[in-house]
Amino acid sequence: MSTKTTKKKSTSEKHQFGAETSKILQLMIHSLYAHKDIFLRELISNASDACDKLRYNAITKPELLKEDTDFAISLIADTKKNTLTIKDNGVGMNKKDMIDNLGTIASSGTQKFLDKTKGDPKEDIQLIGQFGVGFYSAFMVADKVTVISTKAGQKKSYIWESKGDGNYTIDEYNEEHTRGTTITLHLREDAEQFTDKHRVSHIVKTYSDHISFPVTFTDSEGETSNLNEGAALWTRNKSAITKEQYQEFYKHVAHAGDEPWMTLHNKAEGTLEYTSLLFIPSTPPFDLFHPDRMTRVKLYVKRVFIAEENVDIIPQHFRFIRGIVDSEDLPLNISRETLQHNNLIHKIRNNIVKKIISELKKKAKNDKASFDTFWNNFGATLKEGLCEAVDANRENLLEICHFRSSHDKDKLITLDQYIEQMPQDQDKIYYAIGDSPESLLASPQLEGFIKKGINVILLTDHVDDFWVNTMHEYKEKDFVSVTRAGLDADQDEETKDNDTTSKEDQEEQDKLIAFMKDALSGKVLDVVISKKLTSSPVCLSVQEGGMDMRMERFLLAQKQLAKPSLKVLEINLEHPVVKHLAHNITSDDAKELSELLFDQACIIEGESIYDTSEFTTRFNKFLEKALAS
Ligand code: ADP
Ligand code: MG
Repeated sequence: MSTKTTKKKSTSEKHQFGAETSKILQLMIHSLYAHKDIFLRELISNASDACDKLRYNAITKPELLKEDTDFAISLIADTKKNTLTIKDNGVGMNKKDMIDNLGTIASSGTQKFLDKTKGDPKEDIQLIGQFGVGFYSAFMVADKVTVISTKAGQKKSYIWESKGDGNYTIDEYNEEHTRGTTITLHLREDAEQFTDKHRVSHIVKTYSDHISFPVTFTDSEGETSNLNEGAALWTRNKSAITKEQYQEFYKHVAHAGDEPWMTLHNKAEGTLEYTSLLFIPSTPPFDLFHPDRMTRVKLYVKRVFIAEENVDIIPQHFRFIRGIVDSEDLPLNISRETLQHNNLIHKIRNNIVKKIISELKKKAKNDKASFDTFWNNFGATLKEGLCEAVDANRENLLEICHFRSSHDKDKLITLDQYIEQMPQDQDKIYYAIGDSPESLLASPQLEGFIKKGINVILLTDHVDDFWVNTMHEYKEKDFVSVTRAGLDADQDEETKDNDTTSKEDQEEQDKLIAFMKDALSGKVLDVVISKKLTSSPVCLSVQEGGMDMRMERFLLAQKQLAKPSLKVLEINLEHPVVKHLAHNITSDDAKELSELLFDQACIIEGESIYDTSEFTTRFNKFLEKALAS
């Protein structure tokens, strides 16, 4: 922490903001001021968080509350002094909390925030809540901010003050102050409006109506009125909630700036009693692929906030979902540690997942274009769920999975749609794994399938390597990789017609295969005549039951495999180069030509070449010869 401290007097300390904090302050003051209303949303949101925290702590330590048991957030205006005060009786902060939370921004968030800001105020403003820099928005309207706070259960109070100019001071506060935090904004000249009841009331209605605690306004005459309903949004009747209210709640609960793509508000009654209000974002959260794979649906028990991060109420492959679940059945004193192994939680989770999947199914049916956007954002994350062998909802999940396929790489289809389009005699689901639909379509592996009009599912997400190894069939149709050796792409009569090989041809083929096996001994498992190649001379395939090649490369890179397995080389007898080789296996360069064919099979598959310098020597030798002739 880059906090410098110089003693002024016995208790007063002057500190310097961390470098990034200063940058954020500058940004707030100089470029985001056109959207300054949001300061109130941020400060009320912090006050609400503080009340939530104390309410949770008080479950095990009721003495923290003393007689002050009703949480509330008060806004107090003073037109003479041109100040607006935001006061809460939440958990409060001691000196260390103030330094840690108000002096430096949670370091992880800060840099990310700065990296993400684009210089467009409209977009940047959306990022404030997301990155935990909300407190600093106070400086958009105030040229001085005073924070007085008393932490629940502690005696001392502290006063924090800053003009947003790079420094702040902390002092002990010896006057009367009750539990919680009082933030006084010394308003800038152009921010007088924020002492006006109508102005403030409008902002609270717009942004903070959903807050579960009463928010009141007291004007300069001392008259107090209520500004919000003071009941958690999810407890209200669905029909009484507007789209805007849902959106504001989403922004609050998700710390997000986008709009929810889908809002799911449900009340379950019966054996399990709970309310869930869940949102699917329209853009992926920035930490979606963070190795922690943190889930963030908040768990409440009878309106009391219990926990947020990695609660088992939502599976990890739904970690992009934001929102709350409020249970009536769980005990209030449930500890965060025992949450993971709670049966009731698992039951609720199961119900919630079923509900989400059925809603996604509906959406795919009723608004495919919109569903496709969702799928492009979160499909890869969802497919992680297919790898969880114990998940009871795995089959349902696969049913809503969408894939690109060789018939039309731009269209996302379900496996049911794939099966519907299958010719009668096809009983397998063919798939190809690769880095992009384009490269897969250009791959020799697909030549035969494309020629025969057999559709192939194109799998290009990394997670695909894994789930195809755990789910072997869908609706009694086996999944079969196109890279499996011995795969029969042509299942029709034509194959038999082709089988009219003459005795001499058969002998030549046998000799060629024997020769190539010998030439490539130690490098290939086998050499076979391909049934799927139509225009390329060669391709690689894996043995029946062998691991898919991309998966193997992944495990090799992770050092989970010591060495690559040997592949099968498939050759296309119709190709001129292969024909030439067949007629010339006694020539001097026949061995090298075999090796070159094998090299190119490796290259096109993304496998590494055995010896790159030998390869270039060989390659150049053939080039020279071609150029000379
Ligand atoms: P965030 O709310 O995302 O953490 P903020 O910049 O809004 O980021 O607030 C920073 C931190 O300051 C909060 O996490 C909290 O620890 C502390 N804080 C802010 N306001 C209050 C308050 N009214 N009561 C207690 N703590 C507060
Ligand atoms: Mg905040």
